[in-house]
Amino acid sequence: MSQTTIQADVVIVGGGMVGATLACALGDSSLKVILLEAGSGEYQLPAEGFELRVSAITRASQRIFETLGVWQGIAARRISPYRDMHVWDAAGSGVIHFDSAEIGEATLGHIIENNVITAALYERLKAFENVEVLTNTRTASITIEAENASIGLINGNHITTRLVIGADGGQSAVRQQFGISVRGWDYDHTAVVTYVRTAKPHQETAWQRFLPSGPLAFLPLPDNYSSIVWSTQPQHAKQLTEMNDADFHHALGEAFAHTLGEIVSSGPRAGFPLRFFVANEYVKPRLALVGDAAHTIHPLAGQGVNLGLADVASLAEVLIDAVTQGKDIGALSVLRRYERWRKADSMSLFVAMDSLKRLFGSEHPGIRWLRNFGLSLTNKITPVKNHLVRSAMGLSENPVEGQLPRLSRGLPLQGRR
Ligand SMILES: Cc1cc2nc3c(=O)[nH]c(=O)nc-3n(C[C@H](O)[C@H](O)[C@H](O)COP(=O)(O)OP(=O)(O)OC[C@H]3O[C@@H](n4cnc5c(N)ncnc54)[C@H](O)[C@@H]3O)c2cc1C
Repeated sequence: MSQTTIQADVVIVGGGMVGATLACALGDSSLKVILLEAGSGEYQLPAEGFELRVSAITRASQRIFETLGVWQGIAARRISPYRDMHVWDAAGSGVIHFDSAEIGEATLGHIIENNVITAALYERLKAFENVEVLTNTRTASITIEAENASIGLINGNHITTRLVIGADGGQSAVRQQFGISVRGWDYDHTAVVTYVRTAKPHQETAWQRFLPSGPLAFLPLPDNYSSIVWSTQPQHAKQLTEMNDADFHHALGEAFAHTLGEIVSSGPRAGFPLRFFVANEYVKPRLALVGDAAHTIHPLAGQGVNLGLADVASLAEVLIDAVTQGKDIGALSVLRRYERWRKADSMSLFVAMDSLKRLFGSEHPGIRWLRNFGLSLTNKITPVKNHLVRSAMGLSENPVEGQLPRLSRGLPLQGRR
């Protein structure tokens, strides 16, 4: 079979939620974009029940999807708003409660099945003439030269491009191929995920109870179902995924202090080992990393994909600005702006997330007292609480650029055709 060489300006390796959003963000620009996805690119909802993987999508991420014309497709499929967030400590009286009405917002965010998001993104991508989507396609090799990068595909074809984006997830082959090291650790925790129906209504509230073994979240889904993310030690997670339904309902009800009454029914269960890392470099000449390829965090604050979408908003802005100014989009000087912008944001979130997890993971009596006191105190101090909730919604200003990227503010990128 004859081999083909394709020319592009940007090649995005990985068409998950983050890579596909970046392709949409560069849609209708003067750049020729190729999105490479190893999977089929067909994302459907299960005939019955819900998909096991869901994401808490912040208001900032919602704005990105709205600005890119993707939100309509998401909302038309299936979404569930959460207007309140209730977090409490199983070993004490500390509790914190966030209410969207207190900050004058209609919602704090939405719980959305991952397949709903990707299906809407792939639908939207069909509208862009400058974006080519190649599914069932993997990279075999990537070579960087002064003026271009050359990508060999497993089907024998080649792509020559000015910029490669690694959006290929936590195990990123692109990151590894470029020799980019990461800092981080395994949490020695597995997240057990499923969905359940409870006797009492979830009240459009995202509930999180900190158990000595790890956080347990009930996230609201339509029809009074809740998505469960239960982080615990791997051995316990294995037991939870393997036990029969009746035993699981009992164990889950107890762990959640029967806050929403009996567990009436549940879906299949799966476990995801949890890791925390951040790449030491987000960019190299002709390369940028986005999403889980650049950083993976504990799901306790539901921020992983939201961070990835903020990467997309920043990187798309940097690239479109560079095009407008006639600069080389693969030049390190251009890409460094993206790295500075995102590293500042993600590092502070990583530190906060990790401190939180350690604080709640400790059974030391002094630390237990401190966290219960801290939770109750924070709950009473309105400005601190409002600052926290705005951060959780992705609406805090960035320390380096001074403000959120344009897409996160609901503004279209300049320089699009
Ligand atoms: C239990 C759990 C709960 C979570 N809950 C939340 C939440 O509530 N909110 C939140 O914000 N985040 C949450 N997260 C995190 C979120 O799921 C991830 O941050 C997000 O999925 C990362 O998206 P991504 O597109 O960067 O990577 P991925 O979803 O891993 O996508 C990578 C894509 O690249 C493709 N690919 C890989 N290699 C290649 C290759 N060589 N060539 C071509 N394609 C390739 C893959 O097929 C895949 O489609 C949670 C995570 C877990 C584990």
